[in-house]
Amino acid sequence: MSACIFCRIVAGEAPAQIVYQDDLVTAFHDIHPVAPVHILLVPNRHISSVNQAKAEDEAALGRLFTVARRLTAERGIAEDGYRLIVNTGRHGGQVVPHLHMHLIGGRRVRYPMG
Ligand code: AMP
Ligand code: ZN
Repeated sequence: MSACIFCRIVAGEAPAQIVYQDDLVTAFHDIHPVAPVHILLVPNRHISSVNQAKAEDEAALGRLFTVARRLTAERGIAEDGYRLIVNTGRHGGQVVPHLHMHLIGGRRVRYPMG
């Protein structure tokens, strides 16, 4: 079993409210939402951060955006807008070392997070 919490969620080994999953990416509700919509989108394959992203990851990383677009449309927040965030490393405020995109919306969001 993986030690990485997001790998375990992708594998169905840890609980999460999964809202979308396909062959490349998984999306689930953030456990500590900062806005009415706060979803995390992750590549199914473990990539620690943007610093480790390779050319072979481009399909999964691109899919994060198209799935984010689809989820915002489904939730009726696309037109009002939303924020996509990928924190990287210590200075970027990354806590979980499995690359993830925050999708935050449902109200006007504040800077820097939520
Ligand atoms: P970051 O600071 O970008 O690494 O953000 C990590 C995010 O993961 C935070 O918003 C946490 O609330 C969220 N998080 C951590 N553990 C879990 C979990 N088991 N299920 C859902 N979200 C989580
Ligand atoms: Zn992982």
